[in-house]
Amino acid sequence: MNDHLLRLVKSVMEVPYPSKCPLCGRLGESPCAVCVSQFEPHDPLVEFFDEDVLTFRASLFRYRGVVADAVKALKYGRHTSLVEWMARQLELAPESLGLEYDLVLPIPIHWSRRAARGFNQAELLAERLSPSPGILIRVRKTPPQVGLNREQRATNLVGAFQAHESVRGKRILLIDDVLTSGGTARECALVLHAKGATEVGILSFAGEPFN
Ligand SMILES: [Zn+2]
Repeated sequence: MNDHLLRLVKSVMEVPYPSKCPLCGRLGESPCAVCVSQFEPHDPLVEFFDEDVLTFRASLFRYRGVVADAVKALKYGRHTSLVEWMARQLELAPESLGLEYDLVLPIPIHWSRRAARGFNQAELLAERLSPSPGILIRVRKTPPQVGLNREQRATNLVGAFQAHESVRGKRILLIDDVLTSGGTARECALVLHAKGATEVGILSFAGEPFN
């Protein structure tokens, strides 16, 4: 490519273009105010448990409609401003919901999946909460929980995770994009407790109703 053409291409690439809301396509903020107004809060936002492998489970928004669209946009393409907005919602949650923790651990995905996607969406969401990467890892690739029956779900994740010794004596805050049955969070909690973590709770951006 000659210099003139190179300069031309560069100048075209540098022209600021108006950003678009990845959820509805409107020009302007991402996500736009109209979409944000349609984010339905999860009810309840948080539930605490006395005798459970999980101390609490918290989800900010109900996993449907525009919230599900946002989660999909997060997984299948990097919409930086949308991801930042989602991470900011999670950043504010522990204080407003009274969630206490010492370590923030994003729910890990297998390295091969991370390599294919280029990122772990849970890590992106946890970014503003000072996460500790590499402490909880996924050592076995498992089929997605969705589409498995109850028994398959229960055994699917056994042995899938490993935790580092440094979780001993620590209260853990797990972060994920979506919380459905909670099976993944519970399996992580079992592994973390086995290494001496004192409490494990999960905070997700979106969630299905508790049952
Ligand atoms: Zn929008």
